[in-house]
Amino acid sequence: MASHRRYATPQWRAVRLIALRRDRYICQLRLSRRCHGVANSVDHKIRPEDGGSEYDPTNLQAACMSCNITKRNREQAERARRYDQLRKPERHSEDWFGTNRDTTQDSN
Ligand SMILES: [Zn+2]
Repeated sequence: MASHRRYATPQWRAVRLIALRRDRYICQLRLSRRCHGVANSVDHKIRPEDGGSEYDPTNLQAACMSCNITKRNREQAERARRYDQLRKPERHSEDWFGTNRDTTQDSN
């Protein structure tokens, strides 16, 4: 709920309406099990945080609130996962592929 301000601007309201009308108020996401198909909000296909255009209707799609939240949660989880991978590089256990295998078997 941090970035509420942009949702109050006339520009946002106008572009939101364009996207909703273009998609006929039909949810384009269909992610949530609680989705009933009726869009009452819009979703950024590419989030502004990720460089997507904030007010470009081509970057917007009609979505119901439930899917909007579901998508956001997924993106947050995805982001957290990526961040996690950056922090602790994947452990490729080379041990599993035999680098530490017992080498005494040739010496009998
Ligand atoms: Zn939906």
